Amino acid sequence: LSSPAVDRTWRSTQRARESSASDRVLAVKIGGSLFSDKSVAGSLDKGRIARFARVISSLHERFPGQVVLITGGGAIGHGALRGIDPADPFAAIGLTKALADVRWAWTQALVGLGVRAFPLQLGAMATLDDDLSFRVRADIVERVLASGALPILSGDSVLDANGNLHGLSSDRVPEFLVRALQTPLRVASFTDVPGIVLGGPGGKETLRYVDPMTPQAAYEALWTNSEWDTTGGFKTKVDALIRCAAEGAECFILEGVAQDSEWAYLLSPYSGWSNKLHCTRIARSPAA
Ligand code: ATP
Repeated sequence: LSSPAVDRTWRSTQRARESSASDRVLAVKIGGSLFSDKSVAGSLDKGRIARFARVISSLHERFPGQVVLITGGGAIGHGALRGIDPADPFAAIGLTKALADVRWAWTQALVGLGVRAFPLQLGAMATLDDDLSFRVRADIVERVLASGALPILSGDSVLDANGNLHGLSSDRVPEFLVRALQTPLRVASFTDVPGIVLGGPGGKETLRYVDPMTPQAAYEALWTNSEWDTTGGFKTKVDALIRCAAEGAECFILEGVAQDSEWAYLLSPYSGWSNKLHCTRIARSPAA
């Protein structure tokens, strides 16, 4: 159904898109480590969520129809998968509720700031093929963006072709988006480290660029995950962003600091970014 009000919003979103610096969709992923202590069951820091929500709200206001938020699961997400029966093909169902709760915490924070934030369930928009890649089932994300609202996605339990449920990390959502969107995709994955760090924990240097066709240096840099991480941690993130970049997206791993941050640069050409900013860029071409 269409109404004059929806059509007006759609047209003004299109105009804002046309006049903005770039015509791409930016997916901002906020890693669970930035708003949750994964070693504490149920941990969810609403103060941290509120601070990040303010930064995302101003980004959305400036670039309506171009921003998607992906939330990590934190302790709530990892807790839902811990100890589940590997022989039960539907054991991951608890993740659906757990991550709906996390998406809702973000929705409340953003709605409180006047943003039309709209949480979307990944498992209702995609299934998994035999190779566990996404088969997109709807154009809902495109429609929500065109309406001027801010879609909020997360990991989820997702069905495969045989009716088995897979508990998927939020790090895999960009792979869904690169297939679901017609517009070029940039992914900014914020976590507690400034990109892929070289030389082990505490290393001072960051791997600046990863070619998705020759990603060996990225894998050689990875160190062991913590015991409470149920979704493969940093390796899942790196794997997913490499696959996403191979399909044409431009992906970044950055350190997330909410205080006094201004994220408008995330939608401008990479060549103009401050060279003081440490991050890892994963994309098919070394230059933006
Ligand atoms: P999620 O949303 O899935 O909970 P997250 O964004 O909070 O994810 P993690 O999956 O915990 O992030 O990944 C970040 C962690 O990865 C770092 O704190 C670090 O301990 C670990 N790590 C392993 N190898 C590296 C590496 N080479 N460079 C940077 N971090 C690494």
